[in-house]
Amino acid sequence: MKLTDLSLLELGRRLAAGEASSVEAVQACLERIRRLDGRVKAFLLVDEKGALAQAEAADARRRSGTPKGPLDGVPVALKDLFCTEGLATTAGSRILEGFVPPFDATVVQLLKAAGLPILGKLNMDEFAMGSSTENSAYFPSANPWDLTRSPGGSSGGSAAAVSARFAFGALGTDTGGSIRQPAALTGTVGLKPTYGRVSRYGVVAFASSLDQVGPLARTVGDAAALLQVLAVHDARDSTSSREVAPDYLRHLDAGVDGLRLGMPREYFEVEGLDPEVRSAVEAAAAAYQKLGATLVPISLPHTKYALATYYLVAPAEASSNLARYDGVRYGLRVAAPGLREMYAQTRGRGFGPEAKRRIMLGTYALSAGYYDAYYLKAQKVRTLIRQDFAQAWQKVDAILAPTAPTTAFKLGEKVGDPLAMYANDIFTLPCSLAGLPGMSLPCGFSRAGLPIGLQLLGKPFDEATVLRVGRAFEKAHDFVRVPPVGGA
Ligand code: GLN
Repeated sequence: MKLTDLSLLELGRRLAAGEASSVEAVQACLERIRRLDGRVKAFLLVDEKGALAQAEAADARRRSGTPKGPLDGVPVALKDLFCTEGLATTAGSRILEGFVPPFDATVVQLLKAAGLPILGKLNMDEFAMGSSTENSAYFPSANPWDLTRSPGGSSGGSAAAVSARFAFGALGTDTGGSIRQPAALTGTVGLKPTYGRVSRYGVVAFASSLDQVGPLARTVGDAAALLQVLAVHDARDSTSSREVAPDYLRHLDAGVDGLRLGMPREYFEVEGLDPEVRSAVEAAAAAYQKLGATLVPISLPHTKYALATYYLVAPAEASSNLARYDGVRYGLRVAAPGLREMYAQTRGRGFGPEAKRRIMLGTYALSAGYYDAYYLKAQKVRTLIRQDFAQAWQKVDAILAPTAPTTAFKLGEKVGDPLAMYANDIFTLPCSLAGLPGMSLPCGFSRAGLPIGLQLLGKPFDEATVLRVGRAFEKAHDFVRVPPVGGA
């Protein structure tokens, strides 16, 4: 087996046993990136020198018997939404061009403290707004399973890089589905933790009441191991939880015998749910029954309002967050006579069409005459969506659903139709609005050979159960596969 085909946990084991070195692992990734990323276009920036230096230091620690932890020396990569000291951070936008953060986001610090070399920064939709990476100001990324298709978004570069075996894992962010949907479309595992579980400090903000950091990985175990590194209280993020994270690997293999899994009726009645996706998810449900779980039909009656609610709340918060890009403090500045003109020119040229659309939608929803009718109403509906889940948790331990309505769509197919693009988030938004943990894992392939994602939702701060349920399925099946990357 090639080094790059190993899981993150397996590489960690080999490094610990002295059967491989971190420098070898980084070089294997870099070689693969050099050879194949011209097709996939997952990376916005590859930090060869930095990654190799971190790998050498990791190897030295291993040799002297002082590793920083079980993942010391395992190379990973970052969505370009995380501030990285000394490394350009664009958020997929022209407006941050030339911005080199003077500090690391907390999650980047945590990865470094655990010894994981960072290979580089990954492509994404501008400010994490989108579901295909086509809103990146730089270029779209391709899906390693079919290069004419999108890897999903907004963490599409992260998903593509993990799927293509360029990195052993990656960090993404999920505001309305941006970890789970690209994971589904690329045959990887993507975990959005509970809101507050992982620090947002140093993460470029999109919609602050929804944004959450999480891992994209090859296996459920790998996702658990990465979450373990990230799930730490951070005093610099006022929403960061003080709840001490459990040992996520400890009960991972406990199985699902006796667990109750909810099947939300509304998720299977959605128009536009691809029959192949539906049958793969139903087959997964049947598999869980065989493994000893009980399937419980449930109803989440406000599901149909999630899309409209999210597309009011998220743009409202975005319009406020994006006000800081004024040409003075960060990145791009377009010279113009007078301050106002400079602001207008910088923002006019720096933001792409989707960012502008969101700023306008959000500003409108928050404006004096419409606040009550739109923003306030959306907040109330958000509460109802949250209550739907609270009721469900009285009956079930986790919820099972599709992640995305279809398999990977063609690049260019939806880009001209924002509403069709937004509709892709239909199954991921309710979990985000309720602040719950959610994970996507591969549950099969379509006849065309494209991966299908199964979504598992859990109670607040119960990532452990979500992971355990995911692991039980993964163990009983064989959907962790290396994509063809255009025949390479
Ligand atoms: N696709 C959704 C949006 O465009 C979600 C994005 C995300 O989770 N960052 O807003």
